[in-house]
Amino acid sequence: MKYIDEFRDKGLARRLAETIAAEAHPGRDYRLMEFCGGHTHAIFRYGVQHLMPPNLRFIHGPGCPVCVLPMARIDHAIALATQHDVTLCTYGDLMRVPASERRSLLKAKADGADIRMIYSTQDVLRIARENPERQVVFFAIGFETTTPPTAVAVKTARAEGLTNFSVFCNHVLTPSALQTILSTAGPDGVQLDGILGPSHVSTLIGSRPYRFVPERFGVPVVIAGFEPLDVMQSALMLVRQLNEGRCEVENQYTRAVSEEGNRKAQALIEEVFRIRPEFEWRGLGFLPNSALALADAYADLDAEQRFPVEIAPAKEIKGCECPAILRGVKTPTECKLFGNPCTPDNPMGSCMVSSEGACAAYWSYGRFRDAGAASRQPPAASHQPPARG
Ligand code: SF4
Repeated sequence: MKYIDEFRDKGLARRLAETIAAEAHPGRDYRLMEFCGGHTHAIFRYGVQHLMPPNLRFIHGPGCPVCVLPMARIDHAIALATQHDVTLCTYGDLMRVPASERRSLLKAKADGADIRMIYSTQDVLRIARENPERQVVFFAIGFETTTPPTAVAVKTARAEGLTNFSVFCNHVLTPSALQTILSTAGPDGVQLDGILGPSHVSTLIGSRPYRFVPERFGVPVVIAGFEPLDVMQSALMLVRQLNEGRCEVENQYTRAVSEEGNRKAQALIEEVFRIRPEFEWRGLGFLPNSALALADAYADLDAEQRFPVEIAPAKEIKGCECPAILRGVKTPTECKLFGNPCTPDNPMGSCMVSSEGACAAYWSYGRFRDAGAASRQPPAASHQPPARG
């Protein structure tokens, strides 16, 4: 398949692995954070870590929108569906994320709440059109990548006069999370030598917004595609920057990312949303200017204003290490609940539910079992779909 096979080529992977091994200085560490869960899954699915020299380590970042959503927002969504009898629509992976008291949207649905799984914002609009007697709320979630479809849905609802449509907005912004990770790096936080920047997010925001990372924190960034050879080439670009004493933003994912990003989508987002003064992230706390809400011109479509709810303070699952994993200071296997009882069939935390979660990646590809015995075999060609992010 064009644009897939050539980024999973076995011979190229072998040559890249040999080049990285030859160029990585044995006397130093290369601690590279992949911001996106999509990268984490590419690394685990194709065994990329096993192709790296022992002193080059990938550290998993917070780039999974489901994982970083705090439990209070799931509690809030359940309260919307149960306290106001609305039809709540959202994507499949959110349905199973544990809320307080081991509740979830799926359990609330089983108890009778009208909660529906959708595949796109067009599904939500259709449900609103077909059910004019029902209030339909879209539980919107995602980084910058998924924000434009929400904006289009909001504008469509306004144009059609759909007064029974509203949005519970949970869109978050990548640069704020990066800044927090880097501000807390050091002896008590994660130690980082370089960052693999997001793929899909960067198609929208471009490479320019990452300039503060080398300028203020002295950490190089390479924006990386989601295929295994993308990740390996990006790792090599970071190794070269570090070896040569350079510290800049480079773009490996040139087939999709430009410096300025998608201006049309950016203008749409600026029209429909405003930046929240602060927003809570699981593991990172309340971050300033880190999330979006509907702009004043669309405030009548804001579900938080239309349907006030009362919720008790959220109760985190005892023993779940998702917050530390999302900061990059622990790995999933350092959680005592990993594998027993926490598995994708019985998730205790968001990182085991999401298709981009680090715990799900460790479990699904089983590489935690052979962590001490790296095979160093290049990845076989595969036709698995690329990760979303
Ligand atoms: S293994 Fe489960 S309980 Fe442990 S951090 Fe991951 S999601 Fe949380």
